Amino acid sequence: MIDEGDLPAAMVCAACSQPLSRRIPLNEFGEQVGDVVYTHVRHHEADHEAVPQPRAEHFEEDLTQFCDFCTSTKVRWRYRAPGIQMIVIGEDDAPVGRHHSSSDWAACELCARLIERRSKKALLQRALLAWDDEEAREVIRESVRGLHEAFFTTLQPGRHRVPRGRR
Ligand SMILES: [Zn+2]
Ligand SMILES: [Zn+2]
Repeated sequence: MIDEGDLPAAMVCAACSQPLSRRIPLNEFGEQVGDVVYTHVRHHEADHEAVPQPRAEHFEEDLTQFCDFCTSTKVRWRYRAPGIQMIVIGEDDAPVGRHHSSSDWAACELCARLIERRSKKALLQRALLAWDDEEAREVIRESVRGLHEAFFTTLQPGRHRVPRGRR
């Protein structure tokens, strides 16, 4: 169901069954340098290094799903917004990495409500709460805002209910 195109392979942490974020390290010319970096979605909660394993080798229902907006684990909806990439800019304004979003975006009930109402500001506020402190939020604010803009621009009509898991 998840159409990945030519993205780097989707990985899951073998230690905690969480889907991992993908980042391609770039040099100052925007060219890939080194291997894809896989990290936990919730950095501050991870007490171990990510152990990437191909997502295709996991049972979908065993995975911990995260809301792609606020990182809640109560995922209720899936939206389709394919092909979004985010270039991460370093301190000297040169690119340092490229994030690939999956084509399917997961949303919890609350974030879905904000998406349906196109409440971009409230959605941004809610998303920023996933970061530890005020300083981190300020650093990430514009990136998240840009990511949400890209989401709304490429968002396809319709959404899918996610069956409630056993948790
Ligand atoms: Zn893990
Ligand atoms: Zn959410």
